[in-house]
Amino acid sequence: MSQARESLPISQELLQILACPVCKSPVELRGDRLVCQGCARRYRIEDGIPIMLVDEAERPEAPEQAGS
Ligand SMILES: [Zn+2]
Repeated sequence: MSQARESLPISQELLQILACPVCKSPVELRGDRLVCQGCARRYRIEDGIPIMLVDEAERPEAPEQAGS
């Protein structure tokens, strides 16, 4: 199963232990961004290092506020 795809910007193992600093939800890789599955904030990856900082996060384009 070794397809000649470009390597991921970060490893799957790292991806699995990462969580959104805002809502603690898992994140998924979309292109070169990590997208929170909870609040949909996007975190960029620089030199293979995900920038999991609230201040650096990109807000979701369509804000959905359910409660609070
Ligand atoms: Zn989140």
